[in-house]
Amino acid sequence: MPLGEFDLIARFFSRPARRAALGVGDDCALLAPAPGMQLATSCDMLVEGRHFLSTVAPERLGHKALAVNLSDLAACGAAPLAFTLALSMPNADEAWLEGFSRGLLALADAHGCELVGGDTTRGPLVICISVFGEVPAGQALLRSGARAGDGLYVSGTLGDARLALEAVRGTLELAGETFAQVRRAMELPQPRVALGVALRGLATSAIDISDGLLGDLAHLLRRSGVGARLDVDALPRSAQLAAQPLAVQRECLLAGGDDYELLFTAPADRAGAVRDAAAAAGVAVTRIGAIEAEPGLRLVDADGRAVAATWGSFDHFRT
Ligand code: ADP
Ligand code: MG
Repeated sequence: MPLGEFDLIARFFSRPARRAALGVGDDCALLAPAPGMQLATSCDMLVEGRHFLSTVAPERLGHKALAVNLSDLAACGAAPLAFTLALSMPNADEAWLEGFSRGLLALADAHGCELVGGDTTRGPLVICISVFGEVPAGQALLRSGARAGDGLYVSGTLGDARLALEAVRGTLELAGETFAQVRRAMELPQPRVALGVALRGLATSAIDISDGLLGDLAHLLRRSGVGARLDVDALPRSAQLAAQPLAVQRECLLAGGDDYELLFTAPADRAGAVRDAAAAAGVAVTRIGAIEAEPGLRLVDADGRAVAATWGSFDHFRT
């Protein structure tokens, strides 16, 4: 007997409600943000062949589907509350569902984010998650608050996911262990939720890097009405990426995509507080440049020489 829609929801996606007033099983779920908090919500869709390869392990796919949504909450300084899962799949494969739900719910539990509802249908493999978080009213981190003189920072390291993608595409070759490491970065991104919360009241603007540093920085600069100077040699990179030719490094760092690190600004005199926030969140943070009044982006190397930017950001309708 193939697994039916309601059996699979009951078996893989229903758990007792915790913080939510009502979880899976009724027509709506009920959520109650704490008094004085605003609800932050975001939605991300993952389509097979477009956002992930059919070769990805289902457990990692479950992790990533929620991770990219939690990363949006992190970029707003919101703490996760709950999420819904809309799932379209060609058939109800029990082994796939078991792995997918395990990866998904493990990350959900790690962030106290409960699954409160969804929709399940037959079709091409598409995963659409809506996430809900809470942030003290008026304290959400926005793209629009960067001011001239602010320091520009990024969390973690950049470029590994793109390096993995290029290896899969066959444009470069990586040794087995190197590929395994960068593949982890591509398939198991760690959303910087604790850092986003620690940056409340400190960062003047923030965005998460999903489409590549240059493209996402351009969004932040445009929304803030400012420009920036970016030191390309200061960009944090893994040992695996640092072992690649400089042109590959720069392409992966600047136009990589799928990084899910936080890019943010803070006043120049708050550098110590940024360090403390990073330490409290247990995440490395690197200063990579400065906000300037003149619009546009100026790339420089460690010696202050101009670097030509020939890279754009990842655009689903152009690439
Ligand atoms: P309705 O027809 O009223 O929209 P459904 O029959 O689609 O409800 O779903 C029944 C219940 O199961 C609802 O509470 C819905 O939120 C939940 N649900 C459906 N699919 C999923 C899923 N993939 N993950 C979690 N909950 C789900
Ligand atoms: Mg329905």
